[in-house]
Amino acid sequence: MRNTKATQLLFELSRPGCRAAQLPKCDVPERPLTELLPAGAIQSEPAGLPELSEPDVVRHFVNLSTLNMSVDTHFYPLGSCTMKYNPKRNERLASMPGMVDLHPYQPESSAQGLLEILYQSQEMLAEIAGLPAVSLQPAAGAHGEMTALLVASAYFRDLGEKRTTVLIPDAAHGTNPASAIMAGFGVQPVRSTAEGLVDVEDLKKRLSPQTAVFMITNPNTLGLFDGQIGEITRRVHKVGGLVYLDGANMNAILGVTRPGDFGADLMHYNPHKTFSGPHGGGGPGAGPIAVTEKLAPYLPTPIIVKDGDRYRLDDDRPKSIGRVKTFFGNVGVLVRMYCYLRTHGPEGLRRVAEDAVLNANYLLAKIKHFLPVPQGDRCMHEFVASPTNLKVEKGISTMDLAKRLLDYGFHAPTVYFPLIVKEAMMIEPTETESRATLDAFAEALFRITEEPAGLLHEAPHTTPVSRPDEVLAARKPILRWKP
Ligand SMILES: *Cc1c(COP(=O)(O)O)cnc(C)c1O
Repeated sequence: MRNTKATQLLFELSRPGCRAAQLPKCDVPERPLTELLPAGAIQSEPAGLPELSEPDVVRHFVNLSTLNMSVDTHFYPLGSCTMKYNPKRNERLASMPGMVDLHPYQPESSAQGLLEILYQSQEMLAEIAGLPAVSLQPAAGAHGEMTALLVASAYFRDLGEKRTTVLIPDAAHGTNPASAIMAGFGVQPVRSTAEGLVDVEDLKKRLSPQTAVFMITNPNTLGLFDGQIGEITRRVHKVGGLVYLDGANMNAILGVTRPGDFGADLMHYNPHKTFSGPHGGGGPGAGPIAVTEKLAPYLPTPIIVKDGDRYRLDDDRPKSIGRVKTFFGNVGVLVRMYCYLRTHGPEGLRRVAEDAVLNANYLLAKIKHFLPVPQGDRCMHEFVASPTNLKVEKGISTMDLAKRLLDYGFHAPTVYFPLIVKEAMMIEPTETESRATLDAFAEALFRITEEPAGLLHEAPHTTPVSRPDEVLAARKPILRWKP
């Protein structure tokens, strides 16, 4: 640990007698504490609080804030997570007093503006999905997955069918199997081919009258669009199953193709990825879902409906799975999404997809000569490099590359995911980055591969903490200072 001033704790910076404020002399008669409080409530020693001046405290927190990387400060090619620039305009609109001062228990008649925004959001998401019915309620992508699977489960129960299994490709995001288990299903993996697509032969073997849902991410986490999707959805439907589309990342297909058109029955969105909601540091997201007509009765309540020119929350839905969130989703994120969708319009959204795909292919073409990308000469919005050559020839791992990128001022890409690619480095530039930034990133990556292995093993060299034990840091974080 390089214990610079910015990373010292307030307790370590404390100097006895330092104060942030000087109180005026007390102008009422002072009485001993023992007269004011019961004896048991009085500590014998003062609390061990740090003693600091106001500038010390301000500098401490401002300096700490600069140690982080964010989309506003650095290029952030975090594959699958879609860290695109968050337009400040959307922040401004979402924090207008009319938005932030609304109370969730306010009568509907006095919240017509927000209800209209949410109603129109439902309509726009339905159009982009090619699926007619939408719920904005789930709080995050994974929550949307679970909610949609609960909808599927209610649908099968209503049909009197006992379907127990959810099929998931081995390239899928970890939330897919987790959501299926949470929704009460069993999970079976479906293999991928060497090209990184669904192994349809393996899928065929696993399809049965017990199949409830096949979950697919398309384009998948390797950044490949699975052109077999028509055949896949036909086969799943033939055994009476439903097709779930993981739409966390719709960046490559917005306005180009629609999940409903290629056979999906239900899907979720991640507004915090695709629609530019800020989501670094685990901030609030949202996970709206869209489903076909026959699944609509089971959506969570309430849904926003329009009667004449008034909007209201509809709770009278007897087949609904009920609420999955108190109040109405994370409204602030949904408002930012609404602003993003309205600002772009249909043509703009298509352009987002085209630029995201163009940027990813540009970067792919620039780096595949020194960082092999086994699956695909072309990609959609992201691609996965597999620099096993560096491992064999120089002893440099993907982790070394990722750590060293921090020294060059780039956030590291997603690493070691998906699990089916050795030394995976998953890069997603997004459409909001300039060619100059992509060139600089490719150049940095190349220079790093030419550096001595020893230097990389100890990278990063410029951060306060270099290489924490990742497992220990997650399992046993030290959250308390002790003198
Ligand atoms: C991010 C992501 C999810 C999960 O979304 P959260 O909002 O983090 O819960 C699911 N699937 C894929 C493909 C993702 O990239």
